[in-house]
Amino acid sequence: MHNLIELERKYCADNYAPLPFVLTRGDGVYVWDTEGRQYMDMMSAYSAVSHGHVHPRLIKALREQAEQLTVVSRAFHTDKLGAFLKKACLLTSMDKALPMNSGAEAVETALKAARKWAYKIKGVEKDKAKIIVCEGNFHGRTISIISFSSEPQYRDGFGPLTPGFKMIPYDDTAALEASITANTAAFLVEPIQGEGGIIVPETGYLSRCAEICKDNNVLLLCDEIQTGLGRTGRMLASDHEHVKPDGIMLGKALGGGLLPVSLFLARENLMDVFQPGDHGSTFGGNPLAAAVGLEALNTIVDEHLEERAETMGDYFIRKLREIKSPLIKKIRGKGLLIGVEIDTRQVSGAHACAVLAEHGILTKDTHENVIRFSPPLIINGFQIDWAVEQIEKSLGKLETQDWKKAAG
Ligand SMILES: *Cc1c(COP(=O)(O)O)cnc(C)c1O
Repeated sequence: MHNLIELERKYCADNYAPLPFVLTRGDGVYVWDTEGRQYMDMMSAYSAVSHGHVHPRLIKALREQAEQLTVVSRAFHTDKLGAFLKKACLLTSMDKALPMNSGAEAVETALKAARKWAYKIKGVEKDKAKIIVCEGNFHGRTISIISFSSEPQYRDGFGPLTPGFKMIPYDDTAALEASITANTAAFLVEPIQGEGGIIVPETGYLSRCAEICKDNNVLLLCDEIQTGLGRTGRMLASDHEHVKPDGIMLGKALGGGLLPVSLFLARENLMDVFQPGDHGSTFGGNPLAAAVGLEALNTIVDEHLEERAETMGDYFIRKLREIKSPLIKKIRGKGLLIGVEIDTRQVSGAHACAVLAEHGILTKDTHENVIRFSPPLIINGFQIDWAVEQIEKSLGKLETQDWKKAAG
């Protein structure tokens, strides 16, 4: 195990700080390390593994398509792309979709669509379009996307940054209204901020944002890369408020935990700003990705993963709230996107995660103070009971430790 960690350290760029486990196998909600130890995965690769690890149905679709045709580029039609995009549009009530690979690429696609819409349709003067974003956002890691991050480390050393963005506080509709000008193209928002610390806005926030955008001829773009595809108990988190955005971004779970598959989906009048040559991606929409993406969507529907996320999420939050620990400051979330805010004067997020791992629970903190509990959506009640027991034991152990000493 230590050799493998050393090997990775020697040859891999130092852009992550992984916990010291070497994973070799996964099945459902569980993963195993090289020492044969079993863990429950409470990260789900930031929601990318919503279906659970190595889902047999998805592996079958991957294998069958891999033996037929994998990548041809969009220079040609394939027998797989249309059916995948049709299903994605039906499930999200959108008209058209543009296939990409990573989440960040889907966000870049949305930004390009919004700018072009502003110039070609809204009539904004050349190079004056502005896109409004929220403090605490996370939309990916490209230069343009980190240009409007409020996290100093994400931007530091990467300038010159891309102009054309305006930042407002999250969960603040008055700020949105006040910040719109004739040059505003779009408002880009996460229905729940994931990396920002599982921040759930007030009920009615998104629907009020939708009204404000509509009244001002501004596009509403919802980044559902983490919140979409059942994670919060609805197909889309924006469905909780019956909001129909002008465009949405999907990724992560769309690849069934197997491949990077992302989409920008939009209403027709927005997507139609793209013409051949405007935008693209060599791997975007390849038949292997399309076959897996379609099976990932069908599996969510057939296994009722959104209902599971709602009932299991409510149950998990209720059980977590029964834990009495001075280390817990707040528990929040929707469906199976759950964050436990801890008192960082008493314990560090990294150390809490290390102790959880000793108890068989793998997860990671966001921003030091929030521990994420977002298991695969296939998790059952017994598994949640077991997890809550381990979380309770871990907190008990942490309470009695001098964490600064224990963490070295
Ligand atoms: C993860 C994430 C992204 C970026 O996706 P990548 O596949 O890592 O590029 C964008 N938006 C949100 C809300 C995310 O959670």
